Amino acid sequence: MPTIHSYASPGPGSVNNYWIETERGLLVIDAQRQISHAKTAFGQMAALGKPVLAIFLTHEHPDHIGGTDVFAAGSAVPIYASAQTRSNIQRDERGFIALAGRVLGSDFPEAVTLPTHTLEPGQVIEIDEVGLQIYEAGAGEAASMTVLHVEGSDVLFSADLIANGMTPFLMEGRLGAWIAQLEALRTAFPHVRTIYPGHGPVGPASALIDAQLEYLNFFYGLVVEAVAEDTPLTAGKKAAIVFAMEERYPGHPPVAEIPGLLELGIEPVVRELLARSAGDQGGTRAKPGSADTDRPELESDE
Ligand SMILES: [Zn+2]
Repeated sequence: MPTIHSYASPGPGSVNNYWIETERGLLVIDAQRQISHAKTAFGQMAALGKPVLAIFLTHEHPDHIGGTDVFAAGSAVPIYASAQTRSNIQRDERGFIALAGRVLGSDFPEAVTLPTHTLEPGQVIEIDEVGLQIYEAGAGEAASMTVLHVEGSDVLFSADLIANGMTPFLMEGRLGAWIAQLEALRTAFPHVRTIYPGHGPVGPASALIDAQLEYLNFFYGLVVEAVAEDTPLTAGKKAAIVFAMEERYPGHPPVAEIPGLLELGIEPVVRELLARSAGDQGGTRAKPGSADTDRPELESDE
């Protein structure tokens, strides 16, 4: 098993990136948000005296791609991502990359570097005798999400399927899909024991999956309950949801420095629920406490 190193940017909005140390070099997984943080991480890599052999980008969010150029360090290092992630970076449909540029100024690239190599689902990328198995979780937390498994090990890089002990990024909706992806992850990788998450500390796989599922289901349940009472949701009702979350998950720092991150996650889920209700043949509304059985369908990839 090769050695895995990690760097977590200082908060707020702490994000992880990892590098697997092979005999001859380093395989970098995700590329930080800020250029300055990427430089700190790169300094730690450089101390190992080995070159970066490849960079893997798990999804298109700016906190995972801002420092790509720093890690490539001017050489033709292959930058891997799924075709969906590449297209999502290029289109920046939700404008999150542009927003990061406006907020961070010179600490974010003027133009983010695009992946040069495409990852296919199920593929194993073998570099310097380390095999990385590619698992596409699909659209959920982001509009694409690639999970990487080190072949022959019990290690999984979950990307942003998991934010351990943090307030996750709920702004894209698709909560139903995300929950289903976490459940599928357990079945797909029964032998994985350690998860290296996109945000928050490394930890035991089943505990991290359980905790993230619990968090998302609890949030989902609160929104389902509120929507069942009346829509649109009042400011007071949204505040009550945030309060209930903060009471249950105290001290969970946000994965992105966006004021009111949790509250901003409510409306996307409301829209997801209403879209589902509208699509139901029977026209049944979501009922309180039905989060475990009454989830929105998996959204198809866009
Ligand atoms: Zn992230």
